[in-house]
Order: sequence, then structure tokens, then C-alpha cells
Amino acid sequence: MTSISQHAALSDAFRDETPWDVGDDGDTLHEECGIFGVIGARSASSVVALGLHALQHRGQEAVGITSFDGGEFFSHRGIGHVAHVFKNQDIFADLPGMMASGHVRYSTTGGSGLRNIQPLFADLADGGFSIAHNGNISNAMTLKRDLVHKGSIFQSTSDTEVIIHLVATSRYPTLLDRFVDALRLIEGAYALICTTPAGMIACRDPLGIRPLVMGRIGSSVVFASETVALDVVGADFEREVEPGELLVVDHNGVISSHRPFGDPAPRPCIFEQVYFSRPDSILGGQSVYQSRRQIGVELAKEAPADADLVVPVPDSGVPAAIGYAAESGIPFELGIIRSHYVGRTFIQPGDSKRHAEVKRKHNANRALVAGKRIVLIDDSIVRGTTSLKIVQMMRDAGASEVHMRIASPPTDHSCFYGVDTPERSKLLAARMDLEAMADYIQADSLAFVSIDGLYRAVGQQDRNAKCPQFCDACFTGEYPTQLTDYDADAVAGETEA
Ligand code: SF4
Repeated sequence: MTSISQHAALSDAFRDETPWDVGDDGDTLHEECGIFGVIGARSASSVVALGLHALQHRGQEAVGITSFDGGEFFSHRGIGHVAHVFKNQDIFADLPGMMASGHVRYSTTGGSGLRNIQPLFADLADGGFSIAHNGNISNAMTLKRDLVHKGSIFQSTSDTEVIIHLVATSRYPTLLDRFVDALRLIEGAYALICTTPAGMIACRDPLGIRPLVMGRIGSSVVFASETVALDVVGADFEREVEPGELLVVDHNGVISSHRPFGDPAPRPCIFEQVYFSRPDSILGGQSVYQSRRQIGVELAKEAPADADLVVPVPDSGVPAAIGYAAESGIPFELGIIRSHYVGRTFIQPGDSKRHAEVKRKHNANRALVAGKRIVLIDDSIVRGTTSLKIVQMMRDAGASEVHMRIASPPTDHSCFYGVDTPERSKLLAARMDLEAMADYIQADSLAFVSIDGLYRAVGQQDRNAKCPQFCDACFTGEYPTQLTDYDADAVAGETEA
């Protein structure tokens, strides 16, 4: 039986600035987690910390690392950014071993207490078992009720803990069989990195909704949510973990691949291309930056505007604005400057506080926009409050016309697969038609890229309506899995304005 040494820290984080735009004014979508693991590396825990730092945009509320030294598991977890929770180098001496895994968390499924910070850990019949999860299990509550009824005692309120209890209570003879047995019972989206005394298991749900890639540093094997984390730790990209694939790596670096779910058509999250992933990552063989630039090209073809300048809402609107400018021939200019010293802000209730956050973060480049007709490019509209303030900011700076162009289709459904979206009744596109939305944000015109335009930008000919190549449920309402825990009303949402 293995045991675990745990350290927990409440850091003074939330003051730091992260490497990519993580603006949190309550009007942006948030990826909820990033995961990273390495096996066969000296100082594995410090490699994981570096990898997690590159994934910080996927979750800023909490971080944890678990390591294994061949006999014991060790863990350090804390609330805050990676750089704060792991700022003291001595921490890594308490996380020894050549295998480690980690997790950054945006929270909210189950709340943000220390007990929910991952990797979660349990002592099972075969020894220690840690799990780091990106995604959301859409039947976790139903499974948990059944497990509690049978005697399971939960330590956290995280949906991920359901997997541990399912593994613990499965009757199959080997850990791998019990793990697969558990996965067969869960619905929803998951990319997982698990560690056991025998090695590491990395897997994706059968549809591959959430991303996971594999790389190598020499003979060490690395798994990460995005290729950018491989770049940062000096690992060579090897391949994606395929949808529905389990990769098992032992301490000698021997890898076995298992496909227990057959071969369903993949449905990776298309919003990773639009917004969540870093633009320097490669997803599905395509550069995220190029995808975003191409969305701008499609947008310019579908929704041209008579204007003097193309202005991105920084930072996430920049690649699409470059594409829009290239296709339209209208000059690209930085008409909005983003402060890089606005710390992490808490989600604040009430629109007036959200408005204040927008002003702290962005400022109009008045000398540039005064008297000009502006095409403003942003990645998405969620509640609409940010768009309204940015349009007002352009007008206050003297812009004569403001034409808003959005590099995704209207977001009119909530995500149940690990992305924090407001309930449907709060989504502007679920409440209003295009004209009403343009009035609400006070733009002279408003247009979104079409769903087919988005598919073309990410390398497809068009959306295959019978069998879509991606999960695009937040644009179409076509959820690719069962949503057992959510009744039809919650999915359909209340949409009166
Ligand atoms: S619903 Fe939207 S954000 Fe959620 S997984 Fe599907 S495409 Fe991604």
C-alpha cells in the first residue's frame, strides 16, 4: 500500500498576470482546466510546474502537483497561480520522483475549496491512484447518488471523484480493467492523466471533446492539454492522444495503447480553435493562430464593411482581425490598448462592476480612432456587456462608425463539457435576434461568422450536418453526448429577454 504526503497552500495569488489574455469580467468563457504529466524525468515535479505555467490560461484559481518516487506519492496543492503556489523552490524537494502530474483549475464544478484541487488522490486496493481531469462528467450527480447509496464516502464535491469511486468499487481483476469499467459508466467530456505505482495512464473520452497531446523529452514521456506546454518544457510533439484512446506508460517507458470504446466519430471542441487554446498551440494538426486568422478571412468574405480601420479587441481578437484586414484590404491598427498590469479579478455580480473592469483593462487609442469608421473584431459575445462597453469606448474616442464583427457564430447555448458558460438565459444570442443584439451593443452593424465559415477556417469543407466533425453545441444546441444530470429545461434554458 502506498501513502501520500500532502502539502496545501493558500497563496497570495490573484495578483499575478498570466501569459495570455485571461480577462475575467464575467463576460468571457473560461476553459476550466489544464493537465500535464511526465514519466521518466529527473525532477519530474518541476517539469510539471513549468508545463502548468504554460497552461495557466486554462485555469487560474488553483493548482496541484502529485509526484511518485517509486515508493510513495507526494502532493502540493494551493489556491492561486502556478508561479505563486510553487514560488518557493524548496517545495520541489518535497515532491521527489521521476513521475509527476498536475492540474490547473478554473473551478466551479463543485466549488473552489482546497479539497477540490486536483490531482485527486486515493489509496486503492492496488496502491495509490491520482487523477487529473479536464472536462465535465455530465452524469456525475446520478452516479454519485448511486455510489453514496452503496456506501461510498466522498471527500470532495468534484465530479472527478466519481471516477475514483467507480474504479474502487469495480469487480474486474486488474486496475486497467477497473479503470475502463469506470469510464464505460461515465458520460461527458474528459481528458485524464492518472498515476499509479505501475506508471501513468492518459486518456480522452470516446469523442475526444477535450484535447490531450503526447510528447517526449529524450526517453521521458510527456502528456499535456496543449502543445504549447510541450514547447515550453523542451519536449518534442509526438502525437495527439486519439479520441477514446488510453495510453499506459510504465517506468521503463514502454507504452501500450488501448481502444475500449470502439471507433466513434470524433467531436473535439471547436471553441478550442476559436478562443480557449493558446494561439501558439497546434490542434488537430492545425495551428490555432492560423485557424483564427482564417476565421477573420471568412468573416471578411461573409460580412464586409465600409470602414477605415480594422481594430481587434485584444488579445483574443488579434489573429482574426489580421485575417479580416488581409482579406478586406482595410488597414489593421491597434485601436485599443490592453493593460498588462490588471491583475486577476474576481467575478463580480452586477453589470456596473463588470463595466468598471472593462475600463481598467482596455483603453481606446484615441489619436488613431478619432474620426474613423472602425471594424471591431472580437472572438465571441457572451452576455454582451463587454461588447457594449468597447463600442462605447470607441465612440467616446471619436470613432464615426463602429461595425462589430465576431469570429464565432452566436453563442446561444451553454456548455456542459468543462467550459464555464453562463446559464442560457444570460447569453445575449439566446435572448435576442441579430438586429436587437446590434442595438443592445450600440453598434452600427453586427455580424458573426457562419458555422460553415468557421468549419472552413479550421480546415473542413463545410459542417457535415449529419455527422458534425466537431462539438459545436454552444452554437447549434446539438450536444454530442447524453446530459443525464441536466433536465431538458436546464439545457433548453429560459430565454426571455
Ligand atoms: S459546447 Fe462549445 S465550448 Fe463546450 S465543448 Fe462543445 S464546442 Fe466546446
